[in-house]
Amino acid sequence: MRREPTDPSVVRHGRICCPACAKPVDSAGSPDGKPGRAPRSGDFSLCFGCAEPAVYEVDALGRIALRAPTPDERAECLAKNAGEIEKLKAFIAVCRRDLKT
Ligand SMILES: [Zn+2]
Repeated sequence: MRREPTDPSVVRHGRICCPACAKPVDSAGSPDGKPGRAPRSGDFSLCFGCAEPAVYEVDALGRIALRAPTPDERAECLAKNAGEIEKLKAFIAVCRRDLKT
């Protein structure tokens, strides 16, 4: 994993897929814009394709994956990140509108 040179809040990792929509995911970012760190098991991820939360899992060999959250994890993520999720949904809507024009 490596930090994105042009944006230190973003950490690049191997390509994995969103468990909700299968969009490829190859990076993690800190929501506050501070320098990012490698994802750890239990960290939440928000998909830039569907805005659904997922949960990182990192095994002892450093292999990374995303899994669907449990109902409790999903509720926790939605409650903690409501503002970010609304911004992400607005961003996704703009991107989809731009693709149609
Ligand atoms: Zn997705």
